[in-house]
Amino acid sequence: MSFDREDGDHEWGRLQVELSTGISSTDPRDVEVSATFGLSDHSGNWDDSYSAVIQYVVLAELDPAVPPAPGDPRGDLIVVDAEFNQATQHFRSDKHLDAANVFPDNSIRLIEDKPTGVRLYVDYDRNSGLAPIAALSGDLQVTVGSFVQTITPWNVIVPRRDTETDRMQGGHTLNFTLPESLCTGAIRVQAKVFDAADPTQFSATIERTLTFIDGPAIPVFCVGINYTGPDVKPGATPAELAAPPQPAFTTLFTFMEQIYPIPAVTQTGFMVMNYAEEIKSDITKGCDKFSDLLDALRDLRGDATDFFFGLLNTGVDRGTVGGCGRERDGVCAGVVGRGDLAGHEMGHVLGRKHAPCDNVTRCKRPIDTDDDYPDYAGYASDSMGEPGFDTSTGAILDPASAFDVMGYSKPRWIGPYTYKAVMSRVPVPPGPSVQFAQARGTGSSEPVIYDDDEWILIKRPYLFIRLSIARDRTVTWRTAFHFPALPQAIDDQPTDFTIELVDTKGNVVGSECLFANASGCGCGSGCGCGGTTGKWPLAIRQAVPFDEKAAEVRVYECDNKIWSAPIPAAPSVKLTASDEGEFVHFCWEAESMDAPARSLWFVLQWQDRNGTWRGCAPRTQATELRVGKQLIGRQRHVVARVLASSGIATGVGTWEGEIDTGYRGRPVMRGVEIQIPGVDAETPGPWPVKPLLRVSVVDGYGRSPHRPRVRWYRDDGMQIGRGRSIDLRGLPVGMSTLRAVVLDTGAGMGEQRWRIERTRQGAFLVQGASTTTSPTDTTSKGKTP
Ligand SMILES: [Zn+2]
Repeated sequence: MSFDREDGDHEWGRLQVELSTGISSTDPRDVEVSATFGLSDHSGNWDDSYSAVIQYVVLAELDPAVPPAPGDPRGDLIVVDAEFNQATQHFRSDKHLDAANVFPDNSIRLIEDKPTGVRLYVDYDRNSGLAPIAALSGDLQVTVGSFVQTITPWNVIVPRRDTETDRMQGGHTLNFTLPESLCTGAIRVQAKVFDAADPTQFSATIERTLTFIDGPAIPVFCVGINYTGPDVKPGATPAELAAPPQPAFTTLFTFMEQIYPIPAVTQTGFMVMNYAEEIKSDITKGCDKFSDLLDALRDLRGDATDFFFGLLNTGVDRGTVGGCGRERDGVCAGVVGRGDLAGHEMGHVLGRKHAPCDNVTRCKRPIDTDDDYPDYAGYASDSMGEPGFDTSTGAILDPASAFDVMGYSKPRWIGPYTYKAVMSRVPVPPGPSVQFAQARGTGSSEPVIYDDDEWILIKRPYLFIRLSIARDRTVTWRTAFHFPALPQAIDDQPTDFTIELVDTKGNVVGSECLFANASGCGCGSGCGCGGTTGKWPLAIRQAVPFDEKAAEVRVYECDNKIWSAPIPAAPSVKLTASDEGEFVHFCWEAESMDAPARSLWFVLQWQDRNGTWRGCAPRTQATELRVGKQLIGRQRHVVARVLASSGIATGVGTWEGEIDTGYRGRPVMRGVEIQIPGVDAETPGPWPVKPLLRVSVVDGYGRSPHRPRVRWYRDDGMQIGRGRSIDLRGLPVGMSTLRAVVLDTGAGMGEQRWRIERTRQGAFLVQGASTTTSPTDTTSKGKTP
């Protein structure tokens, strides 16, 4: 006991402590210790500060366990605690981590609509004298409102002393998965364990209330890249260079859905982009040629806030760069079939840098290393730190052999550091402050502004600049476009360069510091990206607030002007469109006072029903484009615009009109498809699937409905589940037919059957699928919302 006196007006204070103990009336295993203490100060004034630590010891005499009466729990078998883990979690972390990395048990919050792993920690006294238990099973009773469901464990374990339990061993705890349909609001979970051979021998029940927080999904627009450029792997077939189809994205996003703190990855659309440039890249140059691919994807993103994911096929020779992602632009690219790589690139888009690599035989040392990444002493530098839980199999991932998604080591999973950081970074869907009223037939969507705060979230003009600065300060300006957009992310490395917009009278109407990507200024320190040891040329991509009054743009290095260019009058451009069945054929004519028409660049954009402008293709110098109606979906009324830029000044030509949405051979699709990741519905199986099967729901235009309502049925019509996940362990050994139905929540309904085999070894194989005819709506006239 220690006393720290702040000022010395009295020699002595007096602390008196009294302890009393008793057995809890509700649980005879609990001892309640009551402490009372009093503090007196001789002066009678509360003018001295003391701090003290009171330690006490309880000595208890244990009763021997006696055989339980029928219906009573055994005294030698206790469920000590439960860990709740949706991908990663803190739990008893002081046993394997140093103090800086220890956080309270179960302190990582649980996300609604995301499957949840449960691990029961058991204490069993094999010397109790009662009939020994060789193998332990158990169950969870989950109460959601008035609905109660029993969950069976993934494993059967050998019971042991709690002190002998090793959290890194999956077989030391009894593990369960709560499917996402149960993970909503506040639920009650009651757990007990019992002798696998004799369920009458069971433990007392422990009870926990779980609260799930509502988190946004990651919205991703899917872009299949049809590669027609020179970088082709030897022997690659045309099929291995063609754009991956939409279902390839469903398979790709499984990993992201497992590891990230999200209820889902929402596919917001699908399109094919042709790409003919070089792509073979050198990882020592960061993203290298992938930067150009990301630029093309950025053109597609327009003023959208969802992320754009470009997917290459396996025949493309990518050199030493697997994929690339950019936070600033909300775009990333990867390759078909590599879900963990997709998760890594999406991590970059969500603002994560690389976990460090301390061993070049295990991982390439990344350029853009996160200096704040935790140091888990004794583990690899890119370790997850805490064990992971794979809710689709019940498997435990050991931080000694699995690595954080932001590292280069494999296998990848996720640790608390990345998981918690991503939690705050998933974009919130545009809420009431960014609602755009549909002004149908008037050619524009007017923003409805809720100006209830100092900061008002509306679209305002940005100039999307792309420039590079060489060591000799030569500035290369690439064509920029300006158009209204919501606030845009910027890179995190400040440079010594600024951009200034000046009006005709020489007044500064805009001035912004320029930022660069850390991979562009990786070497040297303390001198900034533009400093003498930065990497040259310095590549800058930034969205700069734009003022229509600007007549000149200047680039400064500190106070030295190193480049300037006049901003001429914007080109004038006129857009027309004609309906060509499967396509809408857009043509435009542009005129510029200051630049030859053939030097202009264009971006064609279409407007979705939320008022968001999205690119139909990357920027082009062509003056026409055929746009597949697939992209526009069920919208009959189409609003499109073409942006024409002579370098800075951007003119706009708008077109709007009705198109025929149904056309020969291709009815308007209403209805949704239910996709099993990794299962190609077009070709015969079998395909192995995870015991907790989680399907995705996508409509005919590659869009996932918001929170699809899925119901599951057996051969005999009995409903056996709801939600995207179904636990296949409920099926008998042999062949079964499983039917899933998606209720119509606006995108149409869908239904699918699968033949599923459960093997004697406990594997699950999808043998074949048949879609029950999706309802179609060929008489769309007047029905399109
Ligand atoms: Zn990376």
